[in-house]
Amino acid sequence: MTAAATSSARFLIVGPQGSGKGTQGVLVAEAFGVPQVATGDIFRANVAGGTELGKRVQAIIEAGDLVPDELTSELVRDRLSQPDAASGFLLDGYPRNRGQVADLDDFLAARGEQLDAVLELEVPRDESISRLRHRAIEQGRTDDTEEVIANRLAIYERETAPILDLYRPRGLVVRIDGVGSLDEVTSRIFEALASRGLVPRHPGAAA
Ligand code: ADP
Repeated sequence: MTAAATSSARFLIVGPQGSGKGTQGVLVAEAFGVPQVATGDIFRANVAGGTELGKRVQAIIEAGDLVPDELTSELVRDRLSQPDAASGFLLDGYPRNRGQVADLDDFLAARGEQLDAVLELEVPRDESISRLRHRAIEQGRTDDTEEVIANRLAIYERETAPILDLYRPRGLVVRIDGVGSLDEVTSRIFEALASRGLVPRHPGAAA
């Protein structure tokens, strides 16, 4: 029996900095034919482009603090209202706290839409710190200094990890072991999604 392709694909990917969620998120989004929406990337592009939004958020991002919910949720609502996100999206880096979960709930409810899965990428703290140190050397992101990394991880543990407890009772959380090679983790993600009946529209794209 061939599983039917999923008609909607509304996913979140949640994991600590250095968990590889950006890389894996792109692969999932491509396979399901939906846009990957990474709030951190959007903010950084605005900073690099010197836009009004970029000017407002630059100092916040460089300190590793969270951009105010109002601004972030508005940005996400605008992005998810674009036609290419009509049948789905993969959100990376949003929601990041309880207020943003409430904002996203309201937005989706008003459109009569629901999330299909929340991918939780689990990576131990030591592993994510060592991956971030590595990335700091390779990519030189300005928010990848030791102090800022520590701040971002602390905010993740305090504000973001608890949002999983909001999604767990809804039966949406798919927990994935994020330790292993990139391909191993990718396979785990697609297997876990398939076991919940979530199959990419473009067969082969996930192979
Ligand atoms: P990381 O997960 O490695 O910290 P991101 O690329 O997801 O990096 O985000 C970079 C920065 O952008 C964050 O430290 C924060 O300042 C800002 N940011 C991204 N997403 C959000 C969000 N949902 N709410 C508030 N701030 C955000």
